[in-house]
Amino acid sequence: MRINVTRSSMPSFEEYTEAIKPLWESAWLTNMGVNHEKLAERLSEYLKVDNVSLFVNGHMALEMTLQAMGLSGEVITTPFTFASTTHAIVRNGLEPVFCDIDKNTYTIDASKIEDLITEKTCAILPVHVYGCVCDVEEIDRIAKAHGLKVIYDSAHAFGVEYKGRGIGTFGDASMFSFHATKVYNTIEGGAVTTADAKLMDMLRKLKDFGIKDEEVIDGIGANAKMNEFCAVMGLCNLLHVDEEIEKRRKVVDRYRQNLSDEEGLTILPVQKDVKPNYAYFPVVVEEKIFGAERQTIIDRLKEDDIYVRKYFYPLTSDMDCYQGRFDSSMTPVAKYTAERVITLPMSASLTENDVDRICGIIRSCRGAAN
Ligand SMILES: *Cc1c(COP(=O)(O)O)cnc(C)c1O
Repeated sequence: MRINVTRSSMPSFEEYTEAIKPLWESAWLTNMGVNHEKLAERLSEYLKVDNVSLFVNGHMALEMTLQAMGLSGEVITTPFTFASTTHAIVRNGLEPVFCDIDKNTYTIDASKIEDLITEKTCAILPVHVYGCVCDVEEIDRIAKAHGLKVIYDSAHAFGVEYKGRGIGTFGDASMFSFHATKVYNTIEGGAVTTADAKLMDMLRKLKDFGIKDEEVIDGIGANAKMNEFCAVMGLCNLLHVDEEIEKRRKVVDRYRQNLSDEEGLTILPVQKDVKPNYAYFPVVVEEKIFGAERQTIIDRLKEDDIYVRKYFYPLTSDMDCYQGRFDSSMTPVAKYTAERVITLPMSASLTENDVDRICGIIRSCRGAAN
């Protein structure tokens, strides 16, 4: 049977259809309906944050957060991420300044941030990539010392905690994605978490065309609201998410048993003080030690109908749409990693047998280049 890099978690058909039935009576399909309001409340409890502002997707949540903060100038960020992070900066008329990543966690290398700060710097936009927690304490110190905003791309970090705190409580704001492929989904969806009541108010307005009240439109907003069908999916999935994460933990444990002693294959470290969510299972293939390049592994797996991805390759700074604008040789660790990483299949529905089979094929590639 085909194994994709991920498989979306869903409630049973009956559970979902039962939950959407009342919508045929109310006919209130979007615009902060009852399910929308309920989901925002439940999520603020689950994520252990003060406030949750729901969005149509994670990308718009991030774009509108940058807009709501009224930023201008340069934003220090990572190129080792999904296109969305960099696009959100550029689409706001801001200039991304790329910082290298840490070779263990693949998150922004906080020790390199201060060298990149100029008088134009307005914010730092780190990514908890693969659900790995950034060096939130050092980033906080730098931001305070230089008067910068911090917005976390927490798209991969749903449910992650650091020292018992919800990951969404760090920085000025955090963006979460509830896309179908993420640990927790609302089909499409996203959210911003923040303790800042003023920012919450701005976000509420901006995602609804800048409408303050019936006669006053005082923001140049857009339409980025979450509809009721997505909110219901979110309420249903939230009831099962702990169970899903526990299943993912078993998958990750099995991968670790299989791969942790394999020379030339680097897997994620276990982070101290972190409650993880087992979102992804990346492997960096050191071709000189392993004796084969990642492409060999990808091709062999494909022969068995198993599909992995090169998350994240290319670096956003190397994407065609940014050609000539950035120099990725300035972020050598990110470049090295992007050229060697594969993310293995990862979902709650994978069995230990699947994992053993995948790892068996990977091991069989050792030395294939010799
Ligand atoms: C998925 C993702 C996004 C965008 O979220 P959407 O909900 O798909 O719009 C942003 N950043 C990262 C790192 C992501 O993986």
